[in-house]
Amino acid sequence: VRRARAEVGTLDEAGRAAFARGLRGRHRRPGGFGSQTRVLAVGSGKGGVGKSTLTVNLAAALARRGQRVGVLDADVWGYSCPQLLGVRQRPVAVPGMMLPVCAHGVRLMSIGFFVEDDQPVVWRGPMLAKALEQFLDDVFWGELDVLLVDLPPGTGDVPLTVLELLPDASLLVVTTPQRASHEVAARVGRMAREQRMPLAGVVENMSGGPFGSGGGARLAAAVAAPLLAEIPLDEQVCDAGDAGVPLVVAAPGSEPARRVDALATALPAVRRSLVGAALPLFVNGPAAS
Ligand code: ADP
Repeated sequence: VRRARAEVGTLDEAGRAAFARGLRGRHRRPGGFGSQTRVLAVGSGKGGVGKSTLTVNLAAALARRGQRVGVLDADVWGYSCPQLLGVRQRPVAVPGMMLPVCAHGVRLMSIGFFVEDDQPVVWRGPMLAKALEQFLDDVFWGELDVLLVDLPPGTGDVPLTVLELLPDASLLVVTTPQRASHEVAARVGRMAREQRMPLAGVVENMSGGPFGSGGGARLAAAVAAPLLAEIPLDEQVCDAGDAGVPLVVAAPGSEPARRVDALATALPAVRRSLVGAALPLFVNGPAAS
């Protein structure tokens, strides 16, 4: 091809409605029946342990490996994925559907897009559940290999709703090395076990330095899940987050970025439930062809 010509215009109302109908026709809930998307919920006991930072870095690392990745920022108290991915624009809405914002190869939808001027989200359980449902059903994610859900810390309404809406999700629990963090995180792990949500594993973040290390290993033992990564405490992680460029993109050769990249390859395979799956059953033997 030597030359190409592109014409850019805006859709009129009928065009937008037709476009939205087209999207809806092709839409499938990620992680829903028949979907091949692996859903990983990222949780922690406390806030401030680096759960959102890890979520966006892991997402960007998976995207760099050619995976189609979505991030659903459901951290109602501390939504920060738009900032961490340097996203300033809002999602595009067409009648009845929204398109996620794409940054660093990651498709993002955040509860933060729907609150004005950094206001706290004061929605109660049923409203949160409805919002999460809309994020899955009314957002055109397209085909995704992985959907990461950034949960609020603790064992509140959102993690339970995510479990109900995404029964095939597994949980990645993030802790710092400190006792105050891993002991509280163990409760999140136990909640998951009680609800029969598989535990993908544990990540120790802010490892080394004044915090020491070993909290991730203790948490992993307490909840009987593998310790998948130890990410060092490193100011580059923090600076990259403030600049809106995940460290795996800004400095892929740095130690924390290499650890996150190793985590991206070490993620355990999905264990899918058979609910809604087509089984290879046939009557009177396979059809002759
Ligand atoms: P959470 O989602 O658990 O509330 P954040 O991802 O918002 O936590 O991180 C809290 C703070 O810690 C942020 O300022 C972030 O830049 C910083 N941070 C996260 N991980 C690291 C790390 N490995 N080294 C240094 N700072 C980190």
